[in-house]
Amino acid sequence: MVTRNGIASVEGLAAGTAFLLRKNKGTGQAVVSLDEAFEAERERLEALSQDGESEAAGIFAAHLEILEDPMLRESIEAHLGDGLSLIEAVEAASKELAAMFEEIEDEYLRARADDVRDICRSLSERLSGSAGDSWQGLPEDAVIVAEELFPSDTTEMDFGKIRAFVMQRGSVTSHVSIIARSKGIPALLGVEIDGIETGDRLLVDGDARILTIRPEEATEEAFREKMNHRDAGDTAEVLLKPDGTPVTVFGNAGSLGDIDAAIAAGADGIGLFRTEFVFMDTDHLPTEEEQFAIYRQAVLRCGGKPLIIRTMDIGGDKILPYWNLPREENPFLGMRGVRLCLTHPDAFRIQVRSILRAGALGPVLMMIPMVAKVEELDQVHAMVLSCSEELSREGIPFREDLPVGIMVETPAAVLMAPELARKAAFFSIGTNDLTQYTMAADRGNPGVAHLYNPMDPAVERALEMTVAAAREAGIPVGVCGEMASTFEGRQRLVSLGVDSVSLSSPKQIKKLKQK
Ligand code: PEP
Ligand code: MG
Repeated sequence: MVTRNGIASVEGLAAGTAFLLRKNKGTGQAVVSLDEAFEAERERLEALSQDGESEAAGIFAAHLEILEDPMLRESIEAHLGDGLSLIEAVEAASKELAAMFEEIEDEYLRARADDVRDICRSLSERLSGSAGDSWQGLPEDAVIVAEELFPSDTTEMDFGKIRAFVMQRGSVTSHVSIIARSKGIPALLGVEIDGIETGDRLLVDGDARILTIRPEEATEEAFREKMNHRDAGDTAEVLLKPDGTPVTVFGNAGSLGDIDAAIAAGADGIGLFRTEFVFMDTDHLPTEEEQFAIYRQAVLRCGGKPLIIRTMDIGGDKILPYWNLPREENPFLGMRGVRLCLTHPDAFRIQVRSILRAGALGPVLMMIPMVAKVEELDQVHAMVLSCSEELSREGIPFREDLPVGIMVETPAAVLMAPELARKAAFFSIGTNDLTQYTMAADRGNPGVAHLYNPMDPAVERALEMTVAAAREAGIPVGVCGEMASTFEGRQRLVSLGVDSVSLSSPKQIKKLKQK
């Protein structure tokens, strides 16, 4: 039996069986040769393309043709000659060939660009040793153990079997932790995973941040006893504003299921619908009709309560495998949120139109992430106007006066809050990012967890300035970051005078809405 401490955690207790995921990912070093990767991929595609039962056999046959075309191999080798690593060379070849296909007029050939990307992704997974991480053999009471997990990993997870997450990297506000919290799954972060094997018994204490590996029987028994007691111990909590009126309690959601869970727990609405998570569930950028169908469902499931749809916050730790964006040195300081939207107006237009259309069906509000400049908000307003004019010309129903608010999550937005408040319908403070950018401490790096603290006086001052600017302009101000997920955080926010909090955990929402 061994115990280890974690640096951060998502609260809760769980006992289960370790399932190690992707030990080698992220090393950037090849674990097999290019020949081996090609051969393994060829075998896989051959088997899949000959599966007479499968509708996708034809697709895999086309993939096999591309893999066997000397063009792919030659492009990778040319990039290797330029001094790139094997994995980098595969990525460069993927971009080059996909771009080439995309320029072809013939629609069929143009669509091969996606095939190229898919094959190259499989090749680089093989090279990095992360391929074959199938979820096969996932035990019924799995504790997922990994160096790091990404939101895109969660799209294939069978949450019904997952009891907890244990990660070497990551923090409470990394997006996997947020997903874990919304599902009521405890997580332990910043914990050494060396020496843990698949099949080991693990006890995960997300409250005390302790991991017990291969516990003795009596220890596990005592732990289970503690688990039973914990579930019985939740009591109601009341949040009141300084004037004695209740603080609005919204839910955060990344899927329609999350919306159902929050509303069922008694939430006053959805304060943050992270649309980028919806985009992660498909293999292409959703079309207007696809997005509208989802937002329409979201409105219906809110049953007349407000729904704040956040425009896509792609970037940072949220990447879309099918959207081939340039790799960045510092993704959290790069093309993220509104910056990406404004530089890809075609994609942004589709989302804005879908949200405007959903607005005709119920109380929808639109929220813009990562705003740093007043001009960005001006550009968003111009896009909303242009989309509204289009929809009106096309005779498609939409909401004309859709409120457009912003996330306050960059220090620039705090410093410009008075100007932004004159142009935004509401503020929602993203304490996850506001803390990381104010303290210059990566929200996913356990090494700087001592600095990453939303209770720091510097963050408190930023919160005060934001609330004051909202008050002055007479617009509502809420908080949708994870700061509202802790008791102390909520108390601080309420004393600062926020109008609403938005929480990821349905269990906490229930506690706050209990009469
Ligand atoms: C935040 O930054 O606090 C926030 C709610 O947005 P996200 O966690 O998705 O970056
Ligand atoms: Mg954010």
